[in-house]
Amino acid sequence: MGAEMPSALFPTHKRVDLSFERGEGAYLFGSDGQKYLDFFSGIAVTGLGHAHPHLVATACRYADRVWHISNNFRIPEQERLAERLAAHSFADNVYFCSTGLEAAEGAIKMARRAQYTAGSPDKVNIITVQGAFHGRSLAGLAATNNAQYLEGFGPRTPGFSQVPFNDLKALEAALGADTAAVMLEPIQGEGGIRRTPLDYLRAVRALCDRTGTLLIFDEVQCGMGRSGRLFAYEWSNIAPDIMMLAKGLGGGFVIGAILATKEISACMVPGTHGSTFGGNPFATAIANAVLDIMIEPSFLAHVRDMSTLLRAGLANLVKKYGHVFSEVRGVGLLVGLKCCIPNNQCVAAAREMGLLTHVAGDNVLRLMPPLIVEPTHISEALEMLDAVAMRVSEETASA
Ligand SMILES: *Cc1c(COP(=O)(O)O)cnc(C)c1O
Repeated sequence: MGAEMPSALFPTHKRVDLSFERGEGAYLFGSDGQKYLDFFSGIAVTGLGHAHPHLVATACRYADRVWHISNNFRIPEQERLAERLAAHSFADNVYFCSTGLEAAEGAIKMARRAQYTAGSPDKVNIITVQGAFHGRSLAGLAATNNAQYLEGFGPRTPGFSQVPFNDLKALEAALGADTAAVMLEPIQGEGGIRRTPLDYLRAVRALCDRTGTLLIFDEVQCGMGRSGRLFAYEWSNIAPDIMMLAKGLGGGFVIGAILATKEISACMVPGTHGSTFGGNPFATAIANAVLDIMIEPSFLAHVRDMSTLLRAGLANLVKKYGHVFSEVRGVGLLVGLKCCIPNNQCVAAAREMGLLTHVAGDNVLRLMPPLIVEPTHISEALEMLDAVAMRVSEETASA
């Protein structure tokens, strides 16, 4: 590693000099001949692990059917997926797209359009929360409001403002006659695995109801079983008006979705929005297969059990290596370990031991194991993290 990698690609991504030949469940097999325990899951995407037999069988079954037809025709797999997502959520209707970025863009348009249709065309502003991540479209960047991501891309798209995390007073003060919606992540992923307190979520819902403001939840990262519920908002006993999904929805195949109430969807008449690829037969067939597994009665209880095990083990590491790790965060299997040394150093050391993890904001090491993880995988990961802490302690002591 370290040597410049020759490539015709854009230099947009900082890549590790490693690729993978095969995946099986929680493991990946690298081109370097090493076996890796995958607690990265392609950024919370491969929730059922690699090469899950039901997903592979579905992909094979659909490979010689109609791959693509566009939304100019009916797509039975898409209709079925929409019905099932609606049946398992607050939503009445579902719009399909391909990525989280598109889901955010569409959700923002829907909120504005719903206000417009309701006779409030001046309600256009979207309020987001500090530490948010809503994708890299121009609107998504304005919503995210990270100066580093905005630099050099011209004027920040108007119609967005931001308030501090978990600060109800600030939100109340920011709500105005021009506010269309509040948009937030029930669990901030990129921002550092920060759970939005449930009391705050309930208070925001009440505030939105009182002021005719719409509530949008970005569950692109924390949805699809990751939190130990199918959707993270379920922990709060309130529901948004609009919700975005992507990452885990296709188990590794490209698909995103916007779920909404019928009041919202009724505004999105022909011509208001669209996508060539969104909800194509292949993508929705795979997402239906993901859902088959996730709605099995014991699936989410398993996620919660594995979460308890992982978090307890991590809490022990914090106790044992307080100078390396300072705090365990997160819900379900979206877990963060706040580091006292640079998080990327811990991620690199873990990878050298054979454990794939990721960084997150606020100097957090992010753990996103596949939701099918077993206790043996968790023990294995904890052992490697213990060894990481030991090694970096020795290095800092000798430095
Ligand atoms: C990843 C992510 C997005 C953007 O999704 P892409 O598919 O990368 O465009 C949006 N919101 C949240 C919360 C995310 O984690």
